[in-house]
Amino acid sequence: MIVGILGAGQLGQMLGLAGRRLGLKFRFLSPDADAPAGKFAELIVADYENEAALAHFAEGLDVATYEFESIPAASVRYIAEKVPTFPPPLALETAQDRANEKSCFERLKIPTAAFAAVDSMRDTREALERIGVPAVLKSRRFGYDGKGQAVLLSRQDMGTAWVKVGAVPSIIESFVKFSRELSIIAVRSRTGEMAFYPLVENHHSEGILRFSLAPAPNISREIQLQAEEYATRVMNDLDYIGVLAIEFFETPDGLVANEMAPRVHNTGHWTIEGADTSQFENHLRAIAGLPLGSTDMGGAAGMVNVIGTEPNIERLRELSDVHVHMYGKAPAPRRKLGHITVTADDLDGVRSGVARLRGALAR
Ligand code: AMP
Repeated sequence: MIVGILGAGQLGQMLGLAGRRLGLKFRFLSPDADAPAGKFAELIVADYENEAALAHFAEGLDVATYEFESIPAASVRYIAEKVPTFPPPLALETAQDRANEKSCFERLKIPTAAFAAVDSMRDTREALERIGVPAVLKSRRFGYDGKGQAVLLSRQDMGTAWVKVGAVPSIIESFVKFSRELSIIAVRSRTGEMAFYPLVENHHSEGILRFSLAPAPNISREIQLQAEEYATRVMNDLDYIGVLAIEFFETPDGLVANEMAPRVHNTGHWTIEGADTSQFENHLRAIAGLPLGSTDMGGAAGMVNVIGTEPNIERLRELSDVHVHMYGKAPAPRRKLGHITVTADDLDGVRSGVARLRGALAR
């Protein structure tokens, strides 16, 4: 079976590695000739809008998917006309635009911050009357790792916030007072089978995910089931196939959905060593129509992102139960260069492992 993947970054690389165990072959398309996944599989180097390249990419594929959220939806639709393509283009269009995404949550009665779509300063001023401060202004499209966002503490912040997000179509939403950030990685296969990993606790700084703990500490059965129910609603509604990540804020009133990603997700990287089946293998199983693998985890796991600068790998390897994944990317400020997973029997072991690792990375 040949799987085509649009995008060839680290997510594609890890999909390719997982797919080897399933005997799958891969073809990638990316505009970047040095993309990580191109190092071990066929890579077509072309822009995502290049129709001739897309046609060439689609030829002979059994199934197609994508690993990058900013791929033009029209290109994914073009591929979907030729080859079964999952997650369905509608899921990508929903997740690519924060207004669509929020409307989807609202329609499915999944709690989310009050919001309004705004196209101008005037819209923003009007919406702010209703939503109040503090509020967050976010560009509707192409926002990631905290880019295209501004917090408004008072109405006076509106002008600077509008300029900061780039004066583009945006949403303004109320600021959620949360105790922590959680995410669920869910998967639905071509047969409708579903599986869920335990909720994960995520720690961001400067808008970038720094580390995750799995399972998230002190999660009641009700909260886990609530997250699974919300993911089920989204997946059934969108006729979703593949891995879906939903990020939540935990509040005293329960989970509040922040955003979703129609792809394998950074907060699920721990599953490679920490769960019976990784999110990457389960994504491939889902889109290939294979039975899903168990999402059980034996103990606990932590994942620390390597950001910006190359660490001393030899030193890290000396730590026990540590698994280093470097993506082969050139160092650059704020760039995710790799991740490291720590496994332990319980969360205490993981917490101390994560602390040791973060210490070693800071040196
Ligand atoms: P996002 O790109 O939507 O994931 O936002 C990046 C980060 O900004 C989140 O992980 C939160 O830490 C913070 N954030 C985003 N939206 C809100 C909100 N409505 N209220 C409070 N914090 C937020």
